[in-house]
Amino acid sequence: MNPDLQSKIDQLEKQLADTISEQRESAKLLIRRDLALTKANEQLKLLDVRKSEFISIAAHQLRTPLSAIKWIMHMLLHDEFHDESDRKDFIQKASESTDRLIALVNDLLEVDHIQSGKYQFAFVPVDIAEMVRATTVELQSLTQDRQIKLVLDLPEALSIRGDVMKLRAVIQNLTENAIKYTPHGGNVHISARVEGEDVQMIFKDSGIGIPDAQKIHIFSKFFRAANAMRADTVGSGLGLFIAKEVVNRHGGKIWFESAEGSGTTFFLTLPVAPKESNI
Ligand code: ADP
Repeated sequence: MNPDLQSKIDQLEKQLADTISEQRESAKLLIRRDLALTKANEQLKLLDVRKSEFISIAAHQLRTPLSAIKWIMHMLLHDEFHDESDRKDFIQKASESTDRLIALVNDLLEVDHIQSGKYQFAFVPVDIAEMVRATTVELQSLTQDRQIKLVLDLPEALSIRGDVMKLRAVIQNLTENAIKYTPHGGNVHISARVEGEDVQMIFKDSGIGIPDAQKIHIFSKFFRAANAMRADTVGSGLGLFIAKEVVNRHGGKIWFESAEGSGTTFFLTLPVAPKESNI
């Protein structure tokens, strides 16, 4: 064969081999992209299902207090209260349902911020001991109604760096839970002290406790244990989910020990001076 022709054929064969190899690489790349897109699509579908679940549970939770308010409004409009004290009692109930609605909407907004990565913190000096004292004053009427013996064991002041509003919500939630999940006449003991580089807080109650089988779910969104629901207490199951996020973001820890029927103790540690990475 003509050497020129042979060289031309060799050149063409090489070009063909190169093209085939490039095509193979492109095909591999396309398969990889396709897999990544399928995975992203599945994740989006899961997110969509979770969002729908969230909206459905939130709507159910909002419906109960709204229905109560609607019913009381209807009774008032139609002058259906013959007794003045009954009228006052129901107006009081409507006012409590409104408070519950506001608290619920605030919790839902917090959860939405956590989930969408928009949860902002502002770290400033905070006196934790004072915060606990102020919270127990705010919850005085609940404590009295339930005849709970509340004991505080706190130093004069206990300063850390943290987000005031968010830490207040955590302390309020743990204190309120200890009181509301303790039957009439029970005890709640709250203490706080410095332990090395942390502040350790303990919220101990002699209440209904948490069933062993449900302990793993306690920090999950919307979770309420069966005995808590039976005890006729109101709640959204969002407080501890939010508390865990807040404590984690301060570089702290939250956990509990509990025995159904005899009481629960929540432990909370918060670094006195959170690391830069947490701020
Ligand atoms: P909520 O109290 O609004 O239901 P939380 O997120 O604060 O929501 O608590 C979630 C669940 O954990 C409660 O519904 C209850 O079952 C359980 N729980 C929390 N604190 C206590 C406690 N001190 N004693 C018994 N059960 C508790």
